Amino acid sequence: MISCLQEDKVRRPEELSTTEPQRQALGSTLQTQGTTDLEKHLEILVLENDRLKQELNGCQLQLQQLRISLTGCTGCEHSKENTQLREQTADLQLELGEKTQLLAKLQQHLKDVLQDKTEREERLNKQIRDCHLALAKQPTPSVKYITKKIEVESSRTKQDLEEAQARNHYLQEQIAIQRRVLAEQEQQLQDSWRTSAQLQAQVMMYEAELERTRGEMLEAFQAMEDEKNQAIEEVFLQARTEMKTVHENLNGVRMNLLSIQPALKTLTSDYNCLKNHVRDFPCLLQDAVNQTKREIYQAVEEAQKTNQDLLRKYKREMQLRKKCHNELVRLRGNIRVLCRVRPVNRDDGTGLDTRNIISFDNDDDAVLYVSHRGKTSMFELDKVFQPHAVQADIFQEVQALITSCIDGYNVCIFAYGQTGSGKTYTMEGSPEDPGINQRALRLLFGEVAERSTDWDLTITVSMAEIYNETLRNLLAKDPNEKLEIKLSPDGSGQLYVPGLIQIRVQSVDDINKVFELGRVNRATDFTNVNERSSRSHALLIVSVTGINLTSGVRTTGKLNLVDLAGSERVGKSGAEGPRLREAQNINKSLLALGDVICALRSKQPYIPFRNSKLTYLLQDSLSGDSKTLMMVQVSPMEKNVNETVCSLKFAQRVRSVELGAVVRRAENQHYSSRQDYELESPSAAAQQGRFNISHSGGKTTAGKRRLMASGEVNHRQSPAALPAL
Ligand code: ADP
Ligand code: MG
Repeated sequence: MISCLQEDKVRRPEELSTTEPQRQALGSTLQTQGTTDLEKHLEILVLENDRLKQELNGCQLQLQQLRISLTGCTGCEHSKENTQLREQTADLQLELGEKTQLLAKLQQHLKDVLQDKTEREERLNKQIRDCHLALAKQPTPSVKYITKKIEVESSRTKQDLEEAQARNHYLQEQIAIQRRVLAEQEQQLQDSWRTSAQLQAQVMMYEAELERTRGEMLEAFQAMEDEKNQAIEEVFLQARTEMKTVHENLNGVRMNLLSIQPALKTLTSDYNCLKNHVRDFPCLLQDAVNQTKREIYQAVEEAQKTNQDLLRKYKREMQLRKKCHNELVRLRGNIRVLCRVRPVNRDDGTGLDTRNIISFDNDDDAVLYVSHRGKTSMFELDKVFQPHAVQADIFQEVQALITSCIDGYNVCIFAYGQTGSGKTYTMEGSPEDPGINQRALRLLFGEVAERSTDWDLTITVSMAEIYNETLRNLLAKDPNEKLEIKLSPDGSGQLYVPGLIQIRVQSVDDINKVFELGRVNRATDFTNVNERSSRSHALLIVSVTGINLTSGVRTTGKLNLVDLAGSERVGKSGAEGPRLREAQNINKSLLALGDVICALRSKQPYIPFRNSKLTYLLQDSLSGDSKTLMMVQVSPMEKNVNETVCSLKFAQRVRSVELGAVVRRAENQHYSSRQDYELESPSAAAQQGRFNISHSGGKTTAGKRRLMASGEVNHRQSPAALPAL
């Protein structure tokens, strides 16, 4: 249609006059064509709208039906879903309403547009007609003008038409959207319908189940009713039988009651009789109690008499025991030499030089053998402790000595031996397995407690150290403070040490504290013989003073427990300078000790106490009726063979002297010989025949003892050997 109009624009006016029928046809064509298209669209839209309305009505109908069918199902998941769907449907309905309103508006607008268009067309037609009429009346130029006007009017109509078409297109799109929405809603409705059908089926199923359960319950109720009736019947029957039995029993009891009455009479008379007895009982009881009391007093008196008798006997026995003990100690000798062989432990390693060289005689605990380089030497002492001997075994042997200090004796116990041979172990021990020191004090505490009824005993301890011939107070605040040994100013000839601290001890705790203080203050140093070597003599001096509570007699006993410095030789320890001086002092004091003990055992008139600080300090504990015990410690390993032999020779010489003749020696002579001995090796000294006592070779102990007793040994001792003792 547009192309036709454009073509018309370019035609000449003279051409227009020749195509009048065509123009009329064009007008009629424009009229018919425009009306037909728009109306057609309008019709389609109206139809579509009707159809949608119908569908909407159908949907609403279905929805109503669904609502009715779903009223039975409330609270379940489906009902919730249904509610949601309903809400959605309501929303959709609202939307549909809006859309319908929009559609109505569009229809109205379309109608208005059409009306406007129709009016305009009519107007145009009328104008055209008028134009035609005017054309018929007027000449050609006016026709040209009208043609132009028509063209102008046609283009406006065309524009309107295009707008209407665009609107129509828009409306069609809207309808398509609405259709799609409607289809979705239909789908949703169908789903709801299906769900509702399923729910209905479930409801029916539940109803059937309910019906069935109700039937079952009725049946069960009936059965229970029957059972109840039966049980009531049974109970009734049973009760009736029991009643019958009870009646029978009652008759029996009635009969029994009649027969019991005479027995009851007898019982009543018995009861009265008993009542009388009970009334008299307290008097009888009092008599019996008095009688028993008399008997008990008598028995107690007898027991007291027996007790006193026993006590008297016990005291007599105790005195006898003490006498026997003293006799035993006297028989054993006031100076005893024991030997302890320490075990090889893990710290000694596993080399060849740790081989054991010491063996024992199972029949004689006073003998030990040292085997080295194919030669076996025998040594005899008062007792030998093998490596397996424990601290308690050692203490068992020395405890008699320790208790004798309570009786007023002075006691000295020395641990002698090379460094590492176990001197400190024997004297101090470890906290878990204490040695002689702590055990001795514990024993003394026990004895003090036992004798507390007759004696008031006090135990005090001092700890001192002799280092480089200097006496030091180990319990002082300043352990370097030197102490002097002085003669007692009372003219008794006794020695005393001014400033030596004495601490009273009453418990194990006290002694542990004292030991700890002493241990801290003790001087120790390192040498290449052992990691730690004691280079001083450590003395624990225990004094026991007692007052007899009956007689007022006073006693004082002193127990000196001495851990001597290492006896190893200077050459081996590699000492020089100050260390050499230390070693020389140690050797000097050890030899002085040996000399003093030898002199004491051989009962010489002159005892060289003053040759060393050690012997000088212990003078009153070594002389008189005091008791001395030398514990010689040795190592069983091959690497220590020289020191072991030296220590054993020293021990044996000390021990053997008692049996020999008394030999007078000048103090200076002893000293020069001691120097010789210390600086030479023991094997060299033995070769020179100075240590001839120990090498008894194949001789038996008993044989050797006989020889000693007869003085044979001393005849064999050369004058050069004697000073070494
Ligand atoms: P010393 O005082 O003679 O230098 P120690 O008493 O210090 O020697 O002993 C050296 C080492 O040997 C220590 O480790 C000690 O525990 C150990 N020892 C010594 N004698 C024994 C023993 N009888 N049993 C177990 N170990 C011992
Ligand atoms: Mg030691």
